[in-house]
Amino acid sequence: MNEPQLRADIVEVGRRMYARGYTASNDGNISVRLGGDRLLMTPKGVCKGFMTADMMCITDLDGRKLQGDRDPSSEMLMHLEVYRQRPDVRAVVHAHPPTATGFAVAGIPLDRAVLAEVLTTLGSIPIAEYATPSTKELPDAVRKYIKAHDGMLLANHGALTVGGDLFAAYFKMETIEHFAKISLVARLLGRENLIAREEVDRLQGLRGTYGIAAPAPICADPADARAALDAGDPALCQVVQAPEGAGQRLVPGVLPAGNVTGGDPPSLASRVRASFGEVTPAIEDGREIRLTYRELSALIEDAIRNLR
Ligand SMILES: [Zn+2]
Repeated sequence: MNEPQLRADIVEVGRRMYARGYTASNDGNISVRLGGDRLLMTPKGVCKGFMTADMMCITDLDGRKLQGDRDPSSEMLMHLEVYRQRPDVRAVVHAHPPTATGFAVAGIPLDRAVLAEVLTTLGSIPIAEYATPSTKELPDAVRKYIKAHDGMLLANHGALTVGGDLFAAYFKMETIEHFAKISLVARLLGRENLIAREEVDRLQGLRGTYGIAAPAPICADPADARAALDAGDPALCQVVQAPEGAGQRLVPGVLPAGNVTGGDPPSLASRVRASFGEVTPAIEDGREIRLTYRELSALIEDAIRNLR
């Protein structure tokens, strides 16, 4: 794509990010590959909602400025690291969308299997460890997840998305913020039904059918993936929390009775009783159960422990 069009696209994406409240003041930054080992990047210290095409900088892949009146983004090191690690990536978007950033501040990754479109596109959205913005620490934190993920939260900071073109990267930022809002509402309502692992596998299969490029598969065994991460290795797959079983949900009562096919309600019920004893309302097979968010979280954690 030609440079004038890419400059115009960066201006447009910046305007949309600012209009949607993903950035305030001079927050956020955007870059795209120009070809020939050059990057086109937003400059330092400008509001993304009021940019013009002539403001952009051109740098090489080591961050040396080749062209432009202004200095490149203060988060240039993070962008450079992404392009180094991901030859397939042609655009990088960083912003501070408030709901997703709230999850990043709370230390809660967006990794539960709840929405099909998130599973088919991003898989899961992990949190890169806290790093001082604009320092060398930030690319180090991002490196751990970027080979396996097209989107991640940055602890106590914001979110980062990448794509095969600028709009692909930007739309992933929209997806993350939208997913964060939906997750927040579900958790406020006190209930979050997870999609079963078998269905997650089916959704993963759709990536091929619809030609959705993903840098890594969704983890079939999250325990193995976590062990690798705990050992300090970079992520090689997208860890998703999904209960095991064909059609079994953690809260079976909210599904039409016919949908609970491969589940094991007595064992689930006994697990709930084991976790909560007499405080848990009596559960009969096929009947709705009501749990507080704290109980549901404990139940999910307990179920995941049992999977290991
Ligand atoms: Zn930032």
